[in-house]
Amino acid sequence: QQTGQANIGVVGLAVMGSNLARNLASREGNTVAVYNRTYARTEELLREHGDAGFLAAETVDDFVASLAKPRTAIIMVQAGAGTDAVIEQLAARFEPGDIIVDGGNANFHDTIRRERDLRELGLNFVGTGISGGEEGALHGPSIMPGGSVEAWETLGPILKSIAAVAEGEPCVTHIGTDGAGHFVKMVHNGIEYADMQLIAEAYDLLRRVGGFSVEQLVTIFQQWNSGDLESYLIEITAEVLGKTDQKTGKPLVDVILDQAGSKGTGVWTVQNAVGLGIPVSGIGEAVFARAVSSKPEQRAAVRSTVHSATFGPRPTEQAMPDSFVDDVRAALYASKVIAYAQGFDLIVAGAKEFGWDIDLGALAKIWRAGCIIRARFLNRIVDAYAHQPDLPTLLVDPYFAEAVAQGEAAWRRIVGIAAASAVPAPGFSSALAYFDSLASDRLPAALIQGQRDFFGAHTYKRVDQDGTFHTRWSEDG
Ligand code: NAP
Repeated sequence: QQTGQANIGVVGLAVMGSNLARNLASREGNTVAVYNRTYARTEELLREHGDAGFLAAETVDDFVASLAKPRTAIIMVQAGAGTDAVIEQLAARFEPGDIIVDGGNANFHDTIRRERDLRELGLNFVGTGISGGEEGALHGPSIMPGGSVEAWETLGPILKSIAAVAEGEPCVTHIGTDGAGHFVKMVHNGIEYADMQLIAEAYDLLRRVGGFSVEQLVTIFQQWNSGDLESYLIEITAEVLGKTDQKTGKPLVDVILDQAGSKGTGVWTVQNAVGLGIPVSGIGEAVFARAVSSKPEQRAAVRSTVHSATFGPRPTEQAMPDSFVDDVRAALYASKVIAYAQGFDLIVAGAKEFGWDIDLGALAKIWRAGCIIRARFLNRIVDAYAHQPDLPTLLVDPYFAEAVAQGEAAWRRIVGIAAASAVPAPGFSSALAYFDSLASDRLPAALIQGQRDFFGAHTYKRVDQDGTFHTRWSEDG
């Protein structure tokens, strides 16, 4: 056994951990210690990739002994109880100044708690968002570390060595203290949900209203990927649509069950946004759309009801503008701007609530490569915050305002066509409603305030006078 030689260790050698360990070991200057609860998994890594030069430990004690000080270990185990178990083992052996990194998809509230507990022992705890899935972990993820500035000094160069690179810059930056990294990773995943939903709506409209074949759609998405919409998600959409099922010869998308699951981060984003009072309707619609899709009994019941005598004939073909494909593209782009604007609003609100100093431009920069939402679009967000760091919303940045203005008419046409055609477009239509709400001179919230005062004496404010008012509603006059 080699003592104190590894500058970094990885605990948890399932797919994410072993890929991250291989990525670390492939970079100049890193010596990587590895440990997994079940040694067979460690042996498998050594058998398949032993030439990477890992320091493999069979026990936690050996693993800790193989790390140079300050000891730095990245945990990549099952989120929740697994992470707590490993933290406990390391904390019992680490010394003040050592660094425990959680690279799993933790809930940021857990990260805040863990950081506080470990800080009391003098240990650094760094909750780190790592995006990009298995491939990212192996070839270069986008990395979102929280934790202390002290930990970042040691950890920063190591993470920079393995991160994806966008325009010459590594996709990692110190996001903020304690749970900041896991918070922004959560919002990243929420935005990912929204982006996927919007792309799915565009696909559905093109197919069901536009009548395009799956083959034609491959070409459309490929074309879109060479313009403003260029992104990993648009790119893989073309690839998914282009896949043929071996068994039936049909497009694979036609034999995949149309019920989408969600693992948690999208739901967490919405839960936290609701708590913070931030309308992330794009992410919310995406989470709800997946939930609706996963209700086969309700879907079947309503489907048969609308085809019964209770309802009239179903909507038939709509007149389509010649510009239909381009209109859908414009609606997608405008709705995407809304979803990102809302996601960034949530980050601003989270930073305020939890006391983080988050540089939004730096964050947009590290999302330009390595992660699922990587896109040309993010350069525009980088520019927007460089131009005005305290933008009230991305929607008023001159570039985004212009983009929405240019697409507005098409966006309205598409939302109208979707409704008239009975093709659900919750992401497109709620994004438009959000935009129209922000842009309205007066909102019916005035009526709601009246109702609240009527039944609960909640009081209201007036447009023409300071102060708080209550009306005796039952009195005459
Ligand atoms: P996983 O299936 O989530 O977890 C399996 C690993 O956890 C194994 O190494 C297992 O050890 C270990 N483990 C579970 N309970 C444990 C305990 N009580 N004590 C010690 N070790 C324990 O692995 P994964 O898919 O590689 O994911 C790892 C983490 O990355 C998770 O937090 C996951 O959410 C996150 N993740 C992120 C992405 C992304 O794109 N960022 C993608 C996938 C996963 P044994 O071998 O001994 O069972």
